[in-house]
Amino acid sequence: MTAPAAEPTIFERIAAREIPAQIVAETDRVIAFHDIAPQAPVHVVVTPKQGAYRDVVELAGGDPGLLAELVDVARGVADELADGDFRLVFNTGANAGQTVFHVHAHVLAGRLEEGSLAG
Ligand code: AMP
Repeated sequence: MTAPAAEPTIFERIAAREIPAQIVAETDRVIAFHDIAPQAPVHVVVTPKQGAYRDVVELAGGDPGLLAELVDVARGVADELADGDFRLVFNTGANAGQTVFHVHAHVLAGRLEEGSLAG
């Protein structure tokens, strides 16, 4: 018996242009868009277009090259939208504030409040 296909995640639907988002950068495998509920002057979500990995631990083990690509896109976003300095947050697990189980990084930049973290 074949397992039923998983529902696409919200971020896969954004990558497929099924849900609108303010896209700021894109490569073949990675997409970056403004977070709908920003926690910093610049708050961008950077995520693989495919949702095979739930969190950064799975991504690092399964496809470290894709993780490196994601970090490179984050750096480009911080160069483009801020002064190049940024905080990169991967909420990992529900108790750490992860709500979307499709690995993604929060790029936070601009004038950050002391101690502010997304999630
Ligand atoms: P996390 O809580 O770490 O899983 O992060 C999920 C993030 O996705 C949150 O910061 C949400 O505000 C953001 N988010 C959820 N839906 C959308 C959407 N449609 N467009 C942009 N950002 C979204």
